[in-house]
Amino acid sequence: MTETTGAPMTLGNHYPSQAEVLFKGSEIHARVGEMAADIRDVYGDEEITIVAVLHGALIFVADLMRALPMPMHLTAVVASSYRGAATSPGELEISLNSELDIADRHVLLVDDILDTGRTLFRLKQIVAAHHPRSVRVAALVDKPSRRVAELKADFVGFEIPDLFIVGYGLDFNGHYRNLPDIVALPAGT
Ligand code: 5GP
Ligand code: MG
Repeated sequence: MTETTGAPMTLGNHYPSQAEVLFKGSEIHARVGEMAADIRDVYGDEEITIVAVLHGALIFVADLMRALPMPMHLTAVVASSYRGAATSPGELEISLNSELDIADRHVLLVDDILDTGRTLFRLKQIVAAHHPRSVRVAALVDKPSRRVAELKADFVGFEIPDLFIVGYGLDFNGHYRNLPDIVALPAGT
């Protein structure tokens, strides 16, 4: 794993205080390129259908798809998993695009983070019900120690311990999605 640049605060005002940069934008860019090469090794020139899990995967999917040369379709779902003490664990809502047309297609689910795995486990079930030719998962970040559902990504960018991260599409209460780096918030934030 990558060395962190150490905490905090040479980052600019729009960064959360005491944030620690885990992955710089340039490093993410390089890793996304490697993931694209791995994905290409699997599909070759076959057409794929990317299903992006919004909103967190927005920036990742934009970079990833431009690094992939094969013909593709893009669609999206919106998933919200409610975290925190106020809600029961595993409560999950997935809004499907009603035009989700994936029968007999190679589906690549693209998500920001694989955490408990519940979102992608559920989404895989939903997608499977549409009879795709294949279903695979690409996650930029994986937190294997948090896993509850039995779900393994086919393509993973970075493995991290149990940290809460923001930036590069990832939010905390709607903030920080626009940060170019991936940043860890201090525990208890
Ligand atoms: P899972 O169903 O795997 O537990 O949930 C995954 C979703 O929770 C991710 O797609 C992401 O939206 C959110 N999530 C999990 N861990 C983090 C994190 O460290 N930071 C942020 N911003 N979102 C997270
Ligand atoms: Mg997500």
